Amino acid sequence: MKTQFFSVKDPRDPVLQTVGAILRNGGLAAIPTETVYGLAANALCDDAVRGIFRAKGRPADNPLIVHISDLSQWDALVTEVPDAAKRLAAAYWPGPLTIILPKSGRVSDVVSGGLPTVAVRMPSHPIARTVIDAAGVPLAAPSANTSGRPSPTTAQHVKDDLDGKIDCIVDAGPCPIGVESTVVSLAGDKPRLLRPGGVTPEMLEAVLGEIDIDDAVFHRLADNETAASPGMKYKHYAPLARVVILKGSFAQFQQYVDAHKTPGTMALCFAGEEGDLSVPAIAFGEAGDDAAQAARIFAALRELDKRGATTVFARFPQTDGVGLAVFNRLVRAAAFQIIDLGGAP
Ligand code: AMP
Ligand code: MG
Repeated sequence: MKTQFFSVKDPRDPVLQTVGAILRNGGLAAIPTETVYGLAANALCDDAVRGIFRAKGRPADNPLIVHISDLSQWDALVTEVPDAAKRLAAAYWPGPLTIILPKSGRVSDVVSGGLPTVAVRMPSHPIARTVIDAAGVPLAAPSANTSGRPSPTTAQHVKDDLDGKIDCIVDAGPCPIGVESTVVSLAGDKPRLLRPGGVTPEMLEAVLGEIDIDDAVFHRLADNETAASPGMKYKHYAPLARVVILKGSFAQFQQYVDAHKTPGTMALCFAGEEGDLSVPAIAFGEAGDDAAQAARIFAALRELDKRGATTVFARFPQTDGVGLAVFNRLVRAAAFQIIDLGGAP
C-alpha cells in the first residue's frame, strides 16, 4: 500500500475533508492529537478496525479508544452517561481524558477487545476534531506506532513504524502533551484511574472525590493477574536497549554511570546535564518540569534506538502532576528496573 502524506497547518485545509472520506470509507489514517499521533479508523466498521490491529501488530484483546467530536456521539456508544461522567466531560473535554463506561450494542467486540465496556475521548486538537467531523463517524484510534514501540509524537515517528501499511499520515508538527490520555473507568462501583496522562489524579479528584488508582499504574502485573486495562499488561513503550532507572542525585547518577558503562551505554538525563556525563546522553526535558518531560519522553526513547544504544541509564522523573504519566511510561520502558542509589533525587 502506498501511504500518502499530507502536511497541514490550518484545520480549514480542504485536504482534511479527503482524510475524512478515506476514514468513512474504511481506510486508515494517522492523525495528530494533543496527546500522541493516533491511528484512526471508522469505529462502526469492523473491517476497518481490524486493519488497525493488523497495521500495528496489536493483540486483539487490547481494546481501542473511540474518539468523538460532539457529545451527542457519546450517547450512542454507551448504555448510559451517568452524572459523574457528565461532570468529568464538562470539566476536561475536549482534552486528554478517556472515560470508560458500559458499551451499547453499537460498539462491536472488535473495538472493545471483547470487553463489555467502551473507552471514549473527545480530543482538543483542532485538526483531530476537524477530521472526526469530516468523517461523520466516531473514530477508533490507538497510538499510531507499531505495538510495543514508544508512542509517536511526530509524523516522522509514525512514518518510521507504519509507512506502507496505512492509507495516509496527516503531519501537523509535534504533539503538545506528548503522553497518551488519562484513562479513567466509571464502569465499576468507584472511579478507577487505569492509566495516568495529561489530566492528573488531583484534577480527577477535584470533580469525582476520592478515586482508586489501579495497581498496574505502579507495579508489574504478575502473569496470573488480570489487567483492568489490557494495555497495561504488555511490555510497552520500549526501545530496543535495556533501560535502567537510577534513583538518586545527579552526582550519584554520574558516578554510577561512570562505574558501570560499557560500549553502547547512553544516558537519558535532564536538559543541561548532557555535557557532564561520561557517556553520550539525550535529555527528556528540564528537571522539575513535568510538562516538558512528558513532551520529550517518547522522542527521546526513539532517539536512543536511532543512536544504537544497548544500555540506557535514565534519571528518575517526577511522580507528581503529569510526571506520574512520564514515570508510568518510563518504568515500563525499563521493564520495572529501578536502582535506588540512596540519595535525594
Ligand atoms: P492506546 O490507544 O494505544 O493508548 O491504548 C488504549 C488504552 O486504553 C489501552 O491501554 C487499553 O487497554 C485501554 N482501554 C481501551 N478500552 C478499554 C476498556 N474498555 N477497558 C479498559 N481499558 C481500555
Ligand atoms: Mg498505544
